[in-house]
Amino acid sequence: MKIAIYPGSFDPVTNGHIDIIFRASAMVDKLIIGVLSNVKKQPLLTVEERIALLEATTHKYLKNVEVEAFSGLLVDFAAKKNASIIVRGLRAMSDFEYELQMAQTNRNLNKNIETIFLATNVHYSFLSSSVVKEIAMFGGDINSLVPPVVEEYLKTKFM
Ligand code: ADP
Repeated sequence: MKIAIYPGSFDPVTNGHIDIIFRASAMVDKLIIGVLSNVKKQPLLTVEERIALLEATTHKYLKNVEVEAFSGLLVDFAAKKNASIIVRGLRAMSDFEYELQMAQTNRNLNKNIETIFLATNVHYSFLSSSVVKEIAMFGGDINSLVPPVVEEYLKTKFM
């Protein structure tokens, strides 16, 4: 059984993440979305809120996707889950250096786990959780950037 982990902060999940989740889940038997609970940056949403939004936007449509919080080393979480693949999304060149460093570091830590990259959907190249939060904070329209449930939830946060 091919199991992959898609790790991230997902603060909050965006349409860019959803696109990667749908495409990655079609490539494996099980996709586990790993929600980082020890993020260095101060998150807007708690790990429980981030998980609830991910579940609300994926569970109905994708039967082979699970969402779980994790902390500590990603390769340790992957090994615990019997996952042999780490999935990451690549947007611009600016993602590349950091992602390459992470992939090589993780490969040094565990040779049995491969990192694969999915190129972002052209519509979401400049989309990030930070951009969404910034627009939402100032009352801007995020309708085309996040699933409806996320849009509604962020409204309650910034009202
Ligand atoms: P992290 O803090 O680990 O980067 P994020 O939640 O920001 O967590 O992102 C998780 C993963 O999703 C990363 O691999 C990131 O490159 C990818 N990602 C984020 N936004 C997009 C997008 N718009 N298109 C494709 N991939 C994306």
